[in-house]
Amino acid sequence: MTSAFGFDNTYARELPGLYVAWKPAPVPAPRLLFLNEALAAELGLDAAALRSADGAALFAGNALPAGAEPIAQAYAGHQFGGFSPQLGDGRALLLGELIDVRGRRRDLALKGSGRTPFSRGGDGKAAVGPMLREVLIGEAMHALGIPTTRALAVAATGETIARSAPLPGAVLARVAASHLRVGTFEYFLAQGETDKLRRLADYTIARHDPALAGTPGRYLALLRAVAQRQAALIAQWMNVGFIHGVMNTDNMALSGETIDYGPCAFIEAYDPAAVFSSIDQGGRYAYGNQPHIARWNLARFAETLLPLMADAEDESAIQRAVGQVTAVIDAFPGLFGAALLRGQRAKLGFFTTTAGDDEGDAALAADWLALLHAQAVDFTLAWRRLADAAEDQEAPLRALFADPAAPGTWLTRWRERCARDDAAGGPGARERAARMRAASPWLIPRNHRVEEALAAATNDADLAPFERLLAALRRPFDEVPELAPYAEPAPAAVTAGYQTFCGT
Ligand code: AMP
Ligand code: MG
Repeated sequence: MTSAFGFDNTYARELPGLYVAWKPAPVPAPRLLFLNEALAAELGLDAAALRSADGAALFAGNALPAGAEPIAQAYAGHQFGGFSPQLGDGRALLLGELIDVRGRRRDLALKGSGRTPFSRGGDGKAAVGPMLREVLIGEAMHALGIPTTRALAVAATGETIARSAPLPGAVLARVAASHLRVGTFEYFLAQGETDKLRRLADYTIARHDPALAGTPGRYLALLRAVAQRQAALIAQWMNVGFIHGVMNTDNMALSGETIDYGPCAFIEAYDPAAVFSSIDQGGRYAYGNQPHIARWNLARFAETLLPLMADAEDESAIQRAVGQVTAVIDAFPGLFGAALLRGQRAKLGFFTTTAGDDEGDAALAADWLALLHAQAVDFTLAWRRLADAAEDQEAPLRALFADPAAPGTWLTRWRERCARDDAAGGPGARERAARMRAASPWLIPRNHRVEEALAAATNDADLAPFERLLAALRRPFDEVPELAPYAEPAPAAVTAGYQTFCGT
């Protein structure tokens, strides 16, 4: 079975000095808790073989698949704004890269596989709950059409690990377009290793923006490409109400995938200030602050590219490079705004545009959100019920508001815009409603449902609630009566007291 992994490990091969070769720590009793069969198939792996005892040993780190070359990657990072020059894979290992059935190169990594030279004071371990959380949120994001790393498997280790309470241990097998982060570049900038930085940048370009390879302006163009991917990604987060919770630069992937599901959560009632992470006292990573933080992180990335764009001795070349990267950073809010509006238009049911619509539509979207905020309306259900209103069923939408009359004026403006859309060749009421439902999920991972499923897995070794929730999250756009309990908002008091945690 192990020979079925067709590893081709470019990172290990091409970037010596940027990682440490290392081995997973053996664990006492590997047991498979979760296997992502659809993802296994995408990777050309035999799911039936992976379900065997061999598979559990492999995903727990007790055995290595043939061709794996486990390494701990070096990276730094700005965490809550402060720079840590050495983070790195303190509890993760990149096993290698696989080419999937569509020809895409994907990293396969373990998380929770034991201490490494980057572990500092940590134990290198992970607990069942947080690893299953990565499964649930990652698969939900994937089903929502949002770029994300994905869980291939979770294996229980049979160990008890020490957290605020003793917890069952687990290892996650994670698949990513790559694990290259802003922090990877920051590490080699901080070390003053310009040669390694250049090799890293050229590697990143070859991997994610191969059309730029070898071109003279490639580092600036890489910055632009990363900015574009982040703008699109954060816009998608905002349009489903996702809060990453810990957007440190080591958690911003250059691929444009969402990575590291720690203290993340979805908003319930719309509130730009929403923050659930216990350690985010200042709200740095609050829901509404995410586009600003993405821009801040991009500025840190840009700083790492300057030594590659201009000779340190050449003052005027440096000035020119600074001007060029600054222009890209300054363009980010515009890129983000355009991506956000594209998503909002589909959610609002506008499919044609004429001159002047950008301002008008952005204002309609902003006024809608202000209305949801003022009335503490559930973000997810409001968009779904707006789709119903497109088919003239306004009552379910109004019922979400504390004052059912509140959306009246806004709805009139919205209907006028829908009518103009149809006059310009828009799809008509029925098709509009269908397309709006395809742009706004009915099911998101409701925080209380996620916690319920993880508690059952952790405290009672009962995976049934996790499996049921996962199955529901895989079809987020279908309104299925049996799944209605998963679509219900948490009681407001539960959301008000909800806290998520890092360092798990
Ligand atoms: P994260 O919050 O998961 O993004 O991790 C931030 C940094 O802390 C990374 O360098 C991790 O490798 C490291 N880290 C987190 N948890 C542990 C742990 N239990 N043992 C060792 N290192 C850890
Ligand atoms: Mg991280």
